[in-house]
Amino acid sequence: MVGQSMVKLIEAGLLILLAACGAGVSPEGERLASDNGPLKAVASNAPKRALSVQAVAQAITPDMLMDWAEGAFADLFPGHSQTTSSQGFVYRYYPSASSFIAVKSDGGVYVLFLNTSDQVKYVAPIADFTCLVTPTAFACRPPIYTVIFTHIEDTTPTGTLGTSQARSNYLLWRDRLIQMANLTRRYNMTWVLQPDWKFLEAARLYEDGATMASTGGVNLLRYLRDSLGVIIDPHSHEGSGYNYPDVAYLLEQLGVGGSTVIGGHVWDPSLPQFAHWERFRVPVAGEKYPSALWRGELLMGSGTPGHTNDPIVSGMWRPKDPYNYFVDDPLGNISAVGAYKSDVGGITTLRGLYEAGRFDATCMLTNTIHVFPSTISSAGGLATVERDVVLPLQSLRASGQVEITNFTALAATWKSRFGGKACVYQE
Ligand SMILES: [Zn+2]
Repeated sequence: MVGQSMVKLIEAGLLILLAACGAGVSPEGERLASDNGPLKAVASNAPKRALSVQAVAQAITPDMLMDWAEGAFADLFPGHSQTTSSQGFVYRYYPSASSFIAVKSDGGVYVLFLNTSDQVKYVAPIADFTCLVTPTAFACRPPIYTVIFTHIEDTTPTGTLGTSQARSNYLLWRDRLIQMANLTRRYNMTWVLQPDWKFLEAARLYEDGATMASTGGVNLLRYLRDSLGVIIDPHSHEGSGYNYPDVAYLLEQLGVGGSTVIGGHVWDPSLPQFAHWERFRVPVAGEKYPSALWRGELLMGSGTPGHTNDPIVSGMWRPKDPYNYFVDDPLGNISAVGAYKSDVGGITTLRGLYEAGRFDATCMLTNTIHVFPSTISSAGGLATVERDVVLPLQSLRASGQVEITNFTALAATWKSRFGGKACVYQE
């Protein structure tokens, strides 16, 4: 039973607070709440993205909040107390801790700890607790961070550079890539282009005044980046005398340098094609352009030759060493992003891991989708990309299940929103 005097006390305290500050928070209330410790901290750190997407989380009730608080803060709210309603407040009293937790009719959450203060303290709106109370609810799960990308291999353009065949094939690809960029731009989605050396050397040869006339006087790469929002990273099989630093150098020469993404590599150290990603822990010199120094920081597309036995892995981590690639080393200066299954369907599977409680909201799960050049160049290929990739992603994005990003931004989000906490899900 709540003592009658206690009820009077909390009601008096709450009413005084309300009289003093109306619906807002008084400076005093704010100060007290901030020194109130864990409850305030946990509310302010709670995932709030549910509020910004269409699929807004189901509102929680005061009873749900107070049940949760009894479990999460058993020292502050010990045992299970009856819910009482009075004068616009729903609250519970905990005699052994001399504490109250209350929800006002406008949704504000308040606490009162009589052992330390007779002041009612405002904590936060009840909505801020939604994803703490119901962490596996649909709208409380993080989106799956997804990158749409295309590799341009070192066989493109076809033909020997300097021949008319290579030039006409380059110009053909020029048009196709602009069309692909226009498609993703139409849906406000980022597309990542990762070309190998040959396409970039071709660009240096063939982006003359006549060619650039159709792209505002700038070369294709700059047009894609500056006018169509394409993100450009290096891709390199490190063949034909060109390594990653050379490709990074060529991108720089074309005015679109700066990326530190290692756009694909063979990860398995037991294979002869192993790409020795660990070289990039320090700057590496180019082979073709030895004065070019480049340090790769972010691995994507941890593959196998011909992509015949690629690992199915999602998440972000810092590979420890070649033989412990999927083990996180918090001190590592190279990060890796998991490709998962390289399809749209995998997103639903990954979201299900949150629902099943396999991962909580502090774990970032990732997915990359390779739109192959062969698809872009085939008859009706872009319509296929639109139907099978862009439209399903648009729908998943509208319901908050996916965030379309690029590798560099993804790594930044990993640090800012997930605290750089490693999370690896491997099948
Ligand atoms: Zn490749």
